[in-house]
Amino acid sequence: MWCSGASGTPKGHSLAAARRRPPAIPGWVTRCSYRWNVTLVVDAELNPAQQEVLDVLGASRDSWPQFEPGLRAELRHELEVTLEPLAHALERVGAAPRTFTKHDLSSIHGCEERFMAEHAAGFPGWSVPKARGVVAHKAIELSMHVRDEVVPLHLVDEALARLTEKDSGLGSWMQTITEFDRAELTGEAVDRVSKFVECWPKLKPAWRPVLESKLIVDLCDERVSLRGKVDLTLGMAQGTAAGKVLVDLKTGGFAPEHLDDLRFYALLEAIRLGVPPRRVATYYLDAGRFVPADVTVDSLFSAVARVVGGVQVLVELVAGGRPAVLRTGPACRWCPLLVGCETGRLSIGDGG
Ligand code: SF4
Repeated sequence: MWCSGASGTPKGHSLAAARRRPPAIPGWVTRCSYRWNVTLVVDAELNPAQQEVLDVLGASRDSWPQFEPGLRAELRHELEVTLEPLAHALERVGAAPRTFTKHDLSSIHGCEERFMAEHAAGFPGWSVPKARGVVAHKAIELSMHVRDEVVPLHLVDEALARLTEKDSGLGSWMQTITEFDRAELTGEAVDRVSKFVECWPKLKPAWRPVLESKLIVDLCDERVSLRGKVDLTLGMAQGTAAGKVLVDLKTGGFAPEHLDDLRFYALLEAIRLGVPPRRVATYYLDAGRFVPADVTVDSLFSAVARVVGGVQVLVELVAGGRPAVLRTGPACRWCPLLVGCETGRLSIGDGG
């Protein structure tokens, strides 16, 4: 067994389960547990949603799963060996080096026709829907260090100012947007930040919170690169004990690929650090609810298989000339190809 301890036993996180047990103490601080207990008593004015955050993400140090030190090398080896012939095939048609993000993998495993259209078009540029998450995360990051009362609009204003000054593609776009786009961006970011502040306890520096944490794994002599950016990480590993949790903050509702996205991030973290996160979770801000999953060796290797499967599909489409497969689903409603796609229109009841 690679992993021992409580890794295969998800902790109950339902309200009923939470009522049965005493309030959880976050487990990623060990030396100061007494001070933590006291702090939590002082900060005890948590609403039920905030308490649930502690219940779902917290765990005592002795329950953290241990992972074998060789896991990192084994995951990398599995990826390198299976991707090598695919990287070679991509190179032959000039499609390597190639970077894969969680969005690429979700797209490849969804409608191939849409993926190929996006692949050909490249990055479409920044827009309000693309920028609102970055602005909100910057504002949440600032909220950790504000000593006065946290006012979401003030945080978002400050985040906008700082991001606009940055020497980046996003900064350049923000310098040129209209007053109305800026107003829309502000409103959408304030909505996210307000919900976060309402539903989460204030992030304490001792929890080691990091917003927009980048993860990079280069493989096969840098011909294939896997990249991610985690919305929020909390805690850290100690030795080979997994103490970190990764959180994706989302508006809208649940989709199965959200868990796949987080398993992909867990895989990148496991290869980067040698110890995977203890738990991953999607937090739905509009609903104030978690969908968490414990990280296991099996889930890491299933993430490996999903990466390899995605690269394989890309090779079949761009190097093998296989026709792209249409796959209908809820995403057809906002697909840019919908107007010309009869299959997609029929699937959403718009045959005309
Ligand atoms: S409308 Fe649906 S089926 Fe058609 S290309 Fe878009 S995602 Fe695919």
